Amino acid sequence: MKGSANRDAFLRMNFLYQAAHTTLVQNPDNTQVARFYIATLKTVAKRLVLRIHPHMKRTICKRCDLLLIPGVTATVRVRARREQHTVLTCLECKRVKRFTSRDDYKLWVEQPESQQAADSKKQQSRQKQFNKKPNTSQQDSRKLDKLVETQPSCSGKGSDQQRAVIVPKKS
Ligand SMILES: [Zn+2]
Repeated sequence: MKGSANRDAFLRMNFLYQAAHTTLVQNPDNTQVARFYIATLKTVAKRLVLRIHPHMKRTICKRCDLLLIPGVTATVRVRARREQHTVLTCLECKRVKRFTSRDDYKLWVEQPESQQAADSKKQQSRQKQFNKKPNTSQQDSRKLDKLVETQPSCSGKGSDQQRAVIVPKKS
Protein backbone atom coordinates (compact mmCIF):
# COMPACT_ATOMS: atom_id res chain seq x y z
CA MET A 1 0.00 0.00 0.00
CA LYS A 2 2.53 2.52 1.19
CA GLY A 3 4.95 1.75 -1.62
CA SER A 4 2.40 1.71 -4.41
CA ALA A 5 0.95 5.10 -3.44
CA ASN A 6 4.20 6.86 -4.28
CA ARG A 7 5.26 4.51 -7.04
CA ASP A 8 4.87 7.08 -9.82
CA ALA A 9 6.89 9.64 -7.90
CA PHE A 10 9.73 7.20 -7.33
CA LEU A 11 9.66 6.17 -10.98
CA ARG A 12 9.86 9.80 -12.00
CA MET A 13 12.71 10.53 -9.61
CA ASN A 14 14.59 7.52 -10.92
CA PHE A 15 14.01 8.67 -14.47
CA LEU A 16 15.14 12.23 -13.76
CA TYR A 17 18.30 10.97 -12.09
CA GLN A 18 19.15 8.77 -15.06
CA ALA A 19 18.33 11.57 -17.48
CA ALA A 20 20.76 13.87 -15.68
CA HIS A 21 23.43 11.18 -15.77
CA THR A 22 22.97 10.47 -19.47
CA THR A 23 23.00 14.17 -20.29
CA LEU A 24 26.31 14.71 -18.53
CA VAL A 25 27.96 11.61 -19.93
CA GLN A 26 27.01 12.58 -23.48
CA ASN A 27 28.13 16.18 -23.08
CA PRO A 28 29.88 17.24 -19.84
CA ASP A 29 29.33 20.91 -20.70
CA ASN A 30 25.58 20.49 -20.58
CA THR A 31 25.40 21.17 -16.86
CA GLN A 32 22.33 23.39 -16.96
CA VAL A 33 20.07 20.64 -18.29
CA ALA A 34 21.42 18.17 -15.74
CA ARG A 35 20.81 20.72 -12.99
CA PHE A 36 17.25 21.17 -14.14
CA TYR A 37 16.59 17.43 -13.88
CA ILE A 38 18.08 17.22 -10.39
CA ALA A 39 16.23 20.32 -9.22
CA THR A 40 12.99 18.77 -10.47
CA LEU A 41 13.83 15.53 -8.68
CA LYS A 42 14.36 17.41 -5.43
CA THR A 43 11.07 19.27 -5.88
CA VAL A 44 9.18 16.02 -6.37
CA ALA A 45 10.74 14.53 -3.26
CA LYS A 46 10.05 17.62 -1.19
CA ARG A 47 6.40 17.91 -2.25
CA LEU A 48 5.56 14.31 -1.42
CA VAL A 49 7.90 14.10 1.58
CA LEU A 50 9.84 11.25 0.05
CA ARG A 51 13.38 10.41 0.93
CA ILE A 52 15.97 10.58 -1.84
CA HIS A 53 17.99 7.36 -1.70
CA PRO A 54 21.37 7.95 -0.01
CA HIS A 55 23.22 6.69 -3.06
CA MET A 56 21.49 9.37 -5.12
CA LYS A 57 21.79 12.04 -2.49
CA ARG A 58 25.51 11.51 -2.09
CA THR A 59 26.03 12.27 -5.78
CA ILE A 60 24.06 15.52 -5.82
CA CYS A 61 25.78 18.82 -5.08
CA LYS A 62 24.02 20.49 -2.19
CA ARG A 63 24.86 23.99 -3.36
CA CYS A 64 24.30 23.96 -7.12
CA ASP A 65 22.20 20.77 -7.71
CA LEU A 66 24.71 19.34 -10.14
CA LEU A 67 25.03 15.58 -10.47
CA LEU A 68 28.50 14.67 -9.25
CA ILE A 69 30.17 12.16 -11.57
CA PRO A 70 33.78 11.42 -10.62
CA GLY A 71 36.13 12.65 -13.32
CA VAL A 72 33.40 14.56 -15.14
CA THR A 73 31.81 17.02 -12.73
CA ALA A 74 33.62 16.12 -9.52
CA THR A 75 36.93 14.99 -8.09
CA VAL A 76 37.30 12.22 -5.53
CA ARG A 77 40.18 12.19 -3.08
CA VAL A 78 40.85 10.03 -0.07
CA ARG A 79 42.27 11.98 2.86
CA ALA A 80 44.04 10.40 5.82
CA ARG A 81 43.99 13.42 8.09
CA ARG A 82 42.08 13.17 11.35
CA GLU A 83 40.09 10.08 10.47
CA GLN A 84 40.34 8.62 6.98
CA HIS A 85 37.60 10.01 4.76
CA THR A 86 36.67 10.59 1.14
CA VAL A 87 36.32 14.11 -0.22
CA LEU A 88 34.03 14.64 -3.19
CA THR A 89 34.43 18.12 -4.73
CA CYS A 90 31.97 19.71 -7.15
CA LEU A 91 34.00 21.15 -10.03
CA GLU A 92 31.40 23.84 -10.76
CA CYS A 93 31.00 25.47 -7.36
CA LYS A 94 33.83 23.78 -5.40
CA ARG A 95 31.49 22.64 -2.67
CA VAL A 96 32.91 19.55 -0.89
CA LYS A 97 31.20 16.50 0.51
CA ARG A 98 32.98 14.34 3.05
CA PHE A 99 32.22 10.68 3.73
CA THR A 100 33.80 8.72 6.51
CA SER A 101 35.68 5.51 5.76
CA ARG A 102 34.75 3.98 9.10
CA ASP A 103 33.89 0.30 8.79
CA ASP A 104 31.06 0.24 11.28
CA TYR A 105 29.43 3.44 10.02
CA LYS A 106 25.75 3.05 9.27
CA LEU A 107 23.59 5.46 7.35
CA TRP A 108 20.51 6.72 9.13
CA VAL A 109 18.21 4.74 6.82
CA GLU A 110 20.10 1.55 7.66
CA GLN A 111 19.32 1.97 11.34
CA PRO A 112 16.08 0.45 12.65
CA GLU A 113 15.02 3.66 14.45
CA SER A 114 14.77 5.50 11.14
CA GLN A 115 11.75 3.44 10.04
CA GLN A 116 9.69 4.50 13.05
CA ALA A 117 10.69 8.12 12.64
CA ALA A 118 9.78 8.05 8.96
CA ASP A 119 6.36 6.55 9.64
CA SER A 120 5.37 9.15 12.21
CA LYS A 121 6.71 11.98 10.05
CA LYS A 122 4.71 10.84 7.04
CA GLN A 123 1.52 10.74 9.06
CA GLN A 124 2.13 14.26 10.29
CA SER A 125 2.79 15.65 6.84
CA ARG A 126 -0.27 13.91 5.43
CA GLN A 127 -2.45 15.51 8.07
CA LYS A 128 -0.91 18.87 7.27
CA GLN A 129 -1.64 18.44 3.58
CA PHE A 130 -5.26 17.59 4.27
CA ASN A 131 -5.69 20.52 6.62
CA LYS A 132 -4.17 23.03 4.23
CA LYS A 133 -4.87 23.37 0.51
CA PRO A 134 -5.21 20.02 -1.21
CA ASN A 135 -5.18 21.43 -4.74
CA THR A 136 -1.71 23.00 -4.80
CA SER A 137 0.28 19.79 -4.91
CA GLN A 138 -1.74 18.54 -7.85
CA GLN A 139 -1.24 21.75 -9.76
CA ASP A 140 2.47 21.72 -9.10
CA SER A 141 2.87 18.15 -10.23
CA ARG A 142 1.02 19.06 -13.42
CA LYS A 143 3.45 21.91 -13.95
CA LEU A 144 6.33 19.50 -13.51
CA ASP A 145 4.78 17.12 -16.03
CA LYS A 146 4.71 19.90 -18.57
CA LEU A 147 8.29 20.92 -17.87
CA VAL A 148 9.53 17.39 -18.31
CA GLU A 149 7.50 16.86 -21.45
CA THR A 150 8.96 19.89 -23.15
CA GLN A 151 12.51 18.59 -22.69
CA PRO A 152 13.18 16.73 -25.94
CA SER A 153 16.26 14.82 -24.81
CA CYS A 154 14.44 12.93 -22.07
CA SER A 155 11.63 11.43 -24.17
CA GLY A 156 12.84 7.86 -23.83
CA LYS A 157 9.41 6.33 -23.72
CA GLY A 158 6.82 9.08 -23.66
CA SER A 159 3.31 7.75 -23.86
CA ASP A 160 1.08 8.47 -26.85
CA GLN A 161 -0.96 10.84 -24.74
CA GLN A 162 2.04 13.00 -23.98
CA ARG A 163 3.01 13.20 -27.61
CA ALA A 164 -0.52 14.14 -28.58
CA VAL A 165 -0.24 17.11 -26.20
CA ILE A 166 3.05 18.30 -27.64
CA VAL A 167 2.17 18.11 -31.34
CA PRO A 168 -0.52 20.85 -31.45
CA LYS A 169 1.87 23.27 -29.71
CA LYS A 170 4.46 23.00 -32.47
CA SER A 171 2.11 23.54 -35.40
ZN1 LIG B 1 28.19 22.36 -6.98
